[in-house]
Amino acid sequence: MDRIIFLDIDGVLNSEAYVRAAHRRRAVRTPAPGPDFIDPVRVARLQQIVDRTGARVVISSNWTHWPGCNHGAISGWLRGLGFTGEVIGQTPRKLSNTHRGNEITWWLESHPCADFVVIDDLMYGDYGPEWVSPHESRLVLTPDGIEPEHVEQAVRMLLGDAQ
Ligand SMILES: [Mg+2]
Repeated sequence: MDRIIFLDIDGVLNSEAYVRAAHRRRAVRTPAPGPDFIDPVRVARLQQIVDRTGARVVISSNWTHWPGCNHGAISGWLRGLGFTGEVIGQTPRKLSNTHRGNEITWWLESHPCADFVVIDDLMYGDYGPEWVSPHESRLVLTPDGIEPEHVEQAVRMLLGDAQ
């Protein structure tokens, strides 16, 4: 059975403090996405979810709006940080004023899967309450990056009764 993790990056695989420190380390000040903004400790937590559920990852992040930053590039960066799971795609962006929930729904329409979770730090702002309420049981909210309790929550949601 297919299981999918829709993965945001900022606020999930990093925290505000981590991003600030990465900016300080960078020789050139640019907000462009890159592996130095991805926290290996949080990647290891994502790895735990994948190991325990067999879920594959679809990127749902505004990182993919940057030129040259697609799911393939992000997959390579994650791999460089030790991630061995599969990054199989990214959610589409059909309209400039849409919200992230619709982008996930569009992806699911063409790729039906048994179970999915959405891991993100900013729920209502990026999704719209009309999408959030019917999907509440799929949402893992990581206010400042993925922590061990979010791993447990995601595993519970993905495995359900199969646990
Ligand atoms: Mg975010």
